[in-house]
Amino acid sequence: MNTKVDNIAPAVKNQFERMIGSGCSFADARFYDEDSSQHIVLYDGNLESNNRGFERGIGVRVLKQGAWGFAATANLTAISACFDRALANAQAAAKLLGFPKDMGPAQPTKGQYRPPVEKDPFEIPLSEKLKFLKDIDTSLRDKTVAQRIVTANFQRRRIYYWNSEGTEIDRWVLNTFGSMMVMSPDKDGRNQRRSVELYSDGTGTRGYEWLTNPDWFAGHAERIKSELSEILAAESLPPGKRDVILLPGQGFLQVHETIGHALELDRILGYELSFAGGSHVRPEMIGTLRYGSEKLNCRAGVVENSAGTFGYDDEGSQQRDFMLIDKGVLVNVLSCRADLAEANAKAGKTVVKESGTAARASAFYRSPIDRMTNINIDPGQDGTLEDIIKDTKDGVVLDVPVSWSIGSNREHFHFGCEIAWEVKDGRRTKVYKNPTYQGHTLEFWGSLDKVGNRSTWRLHQVPNCGKGEPNQIMELGHGIPVMRFRNVQTGEKE
Ligand SMILES: [Zn+2]
Repeated sequence: MNTKVDNIAPAVKNQFERMIGSGCSFADARFYDEDSSQHIVLYDGNLESNNRGFERGIGVRVLKQGAWGFAATANLTAISACFDRALANAQAAAKLLGFPKDMGPAQPTKGQYRPPVEKDPFEIPLSEKLKFLKDIDTSLRDKTVAQRIVTANFQRRRIYYWNSEGTEIDRWVLNTFGSMMVMSPDKDGRNQRRSVELYSDGTGTRGYEWLTNPDWFAGHAERIKSELSEILAAESLPPGKRDVILLPGQGFLQVHETIGHALELDRILGYELSFAGGSHVRPEMIGTLRYGSEKLNCRAGVVENSAGTFGYDDEGSQQRDFMLIDKGVLVNVLSCRADLAEANAKAGKTVVKESGTAARASAFYRSPIDRMTNINIDPGQDGTLEDIIKDTKDGVVLDVPVSWSIGSNREHFHFGCEIAWEVKDGRRTKVYKNPTYQGHTLEFWGSLDKVGNRSTWRLHQVPNCGKGEPNQIMELGHGIPVMRFRNVQTGEKE
């Protein structure tokens, strides 16, 4: 049998009829006609790895008596058997069911999504990519630099989605990532580093042309090299309470760990607990919890140019742009369709009305779970980075995570960064190494008192967010302005 989509689609639709006839309330299928990846690493200018991946297959889900059954296969001539396995899994799961899953009213949708791309990275010869990365490596060379790492990472997927409600989605995914890092031991023998990852202002196209735009990547090589030499000459940040100004290169992790993961509905409902993945948020808090100061406006955003923009999620819901935290109050969470009824029942009132379009799977052989999309902080009214520095008496500017530890319910955190710039009486004075800061999530966001304007806003990508059992590595984005927090515990007592 030929396994082109023209043959797969009717075969899947026949199976939907058979599953509904077997007592299922819902069934869906994701056919990955192509899932290509390429990961290139240059280490000290040598090609450390060039991993090319290609996968093709189908993953199907059925919902029976409120229980999910999932199965997947790369054998596209055995789709019927794949549905049989999903059905058997649902029947087994139904015997152990806590709260029945419910997809709610049918939402038949037809749609297509194409990311904005000029140059498909998979059409660029390896030699051209290597030359580009090698040139960056050359510009990172310096007598103060002991090690250099330059990476590029590309993903291309063609995914068809169908479900028993009549939904049909046809979409491409294309993602481009890049990173560069310089490292050296300091005079105490401790490794120091400075790095940058491909970012943007959220606009533009996301193919190979993004990676080669010097503003967003290669043009930062000289800067990180000279900042590493400043770090190597610097003292450690002395401990104390002071204001903390997070650049987007650090702010994205703050949002990722203490807002994004905490607002995934499956965590809120307790489904990720066995993987140290709880949340301090409970369902009844949605709509009322004061998460941060009035300055905090956080949304699940749809931006043009980000790995967190994908058109339709893995339940066929069109990606929506909506507020998660509005003027400091928690108003919504990251959800898929099937858990809304449980959240509302546990809250004792309606706290979530429609899917957060956050059902995402990392591969055809993984079942979708609640994931971050683009978890963005809206730009504020407090001017540029320089305006915020001018307004700061005693503080530090922090950039790029090197270490992080988070409470299992995301209620507190401790982060280390690559670099700190001291701010005294409205001026940047000197660089400190080994900066750290810590706090309690709600107290910390409550101390947010300055949010930079659009000029400070950067779209950072996360290519490797891990979650679930079995683990699913997911890509997403964070659009973040410069943010200032008051009176934060920083530095370590020696
Ligand atoms: Zn993550």
